[in-house]
Amino acid sequence: MVNITYGGSYFMICKWKSKHNTKNIVKCRRDAYDDSGYCLFHKQNKTKKENEIFNKIINGELKSELYIWNSKENIFDFRGFVFDEEIKFSDFKNYINKEDAVFDFSEAIFGKNVYFDNFQFKHDVYFSHTEFKRIVSFKNCIFEGNCIFKKTKFRTTSNISPFYKAKFIGQHLIFKDIENGLKFDGIIFSQNTRFILDNVEYDKVNYLNGRNAYRIAKNQSNIIGDYHEVGRYYYKERWYNGKMIFPSISFWNRNGEGLKKLVLFKSIKQKKHYKHIIPKLMDLTAKHVVGYGEKPQNVLFLSFILISVFAYLYMIAGLKINIYTNYIIDSQEIIKYNLDDLLKGNIKQFFKDYLQAWYFSIVTFTTVGYGDIIPINFWGKILSSIEMFLGVTVVAAWTSTLVRKISR
Ligand SMILES: [Zn+2]
Repeated sequence: MVNITYGGSYFMICKWKSKHNTKNIVKCRRDAYDDSGYCLFHKQNKTKKENEIFNKIINGELKSELYIWNSKENIFDFRGFVFDEEIKFSDFKNYINKEDAVFDFSEAIFGKNVYFDNFQFKHDVYFSHTEFKRIVSFKNCIFEGNCIFKKTKFRTTSNISPFYKAKFIGQHLIFKDIENGLKFDGIIFSQNTRFILDNVEYDKVNYLNGRNAYRIAKNQSNIIGDYHEVGRYYYKERWYNGKMIFPSISFWNRNGEGLKKLVLFKSIKQKKHYKHIIPKLMDLTAKHVVGYGEKPQNVLFLSFILISVFAYLYMIAGLKINIYTNYIIDSQEIIKYNLDDLLKGNIKQFFKDYLQAWYFSIVTFTTVGYGDIIPINFWGKILSSIEMFLGVTVVAAWTSTLVRKISR
C-alpha cells in the first residue's frame, strides 16, 4: 500500500459544502488537493493522472487518510464527488458485501456512463440532487434497503431501461421531483416494496415510458394495498396515454402567444389522422369531465357551468313564473330577454331574473321539475329536454366516480 498525502504546500480545507442540505451544514473536511481549492474527490475536470489516483483510492488500492468510508455513521460517503470517467461500480471489490453500509451519492456528478450492474446494496442508497450526465444502469442489482432519488437529474434515452431485472426487496423505492423520468420496464419488486413516483415527469419522446412507469407504480400499489395511490397512478397512466393519441388538440401555440392554429382541423384536412380524432375526443372528455374517473370534483364543476349556461339561455327563450296564493295561481310573470334588454336593462333586475332562471335550470338539470316555472315556447322546451338528458348523464357520472373513489 502506498500512502499518499496531499496538500503539502496547500494549507487549505476543501471548499466543497452541500448546497441542498440546509438543516446541518455538510462540509468536506479534507485538505485541498491543489490551488483549485477542492480535494481530489470534489475537484472538477481532473487530469488523466488525477483520475487514476481518484479511481485507485475509491477502489481501495491506494490507502488514503481521506476516508470515503464514514465509519462513525456507517456511510459510504460519496456526497458531491465528481466522477469524470466511466465507472463500473462492481469492479470496486472493497464495497462488495459490506453489511449495514449506507451508500450516499447525493449531489455527486457522474460525467460519463455509470454502471452499478450486478451490485448488491445491503442497506439504503441515496441519490438526492445527483447528476447523471450520461447513462446510469442498475441492471441485475439487488436493493435490500431503501433507494431514494430526489431531484435527481437523469439524461434519459427512450429505449434503455436502467432497472432491467433489478430487484427491490427493501421498504421503499422513491422518485421525487424528477424532470426526466426513467424507463422502468423489467423492474422487480417484492410483495411489500412501496414504489413511489411523486412529481416525476416525462418529455414528449418518453410519453410511452411515462405511461408504463405509472402503470408499474399502479400495479405495485395494488399489490401492497395502497389503494389511495392506485387512483393517482391510474390518472397519470391515462394522462400519458392520452398524450400519445395523435393529433394533439391545442388551441394555443407553444409560447402561449394566443390562438394560432387548431391542429385538429389541420389534421382532418390531411385525412391521415382522421381515425385518431374520435379516440382523442373521447380521451379529452374522460380527462376533463371525470378526470379519468379519479376526480369527482370535475363533474361538479361541469354541472355548475352547464346549469349556469342553460339558465342564461332560458332567459332568452323565455320562462313563465306562476305565483301561488293558497295553492291557486294568483298571478304570472314572464321572463324574456332580447339583446336590447341585455344591453339597456338594469342590472339589478337582470340578476333577480337570472336567479329565477338558475333555479329553473337546476330543477330541470336534476330532473326534479316542480312546475312552478315553465318554458313558454318551443325553444324553451327543446332546451329543457337537452338539459334533462345532460343532467341524467352527468349525475350518473358523478355518482359512479364518487362510488368508485369511496369504495376503494
Ligand atoms: Zn472535498
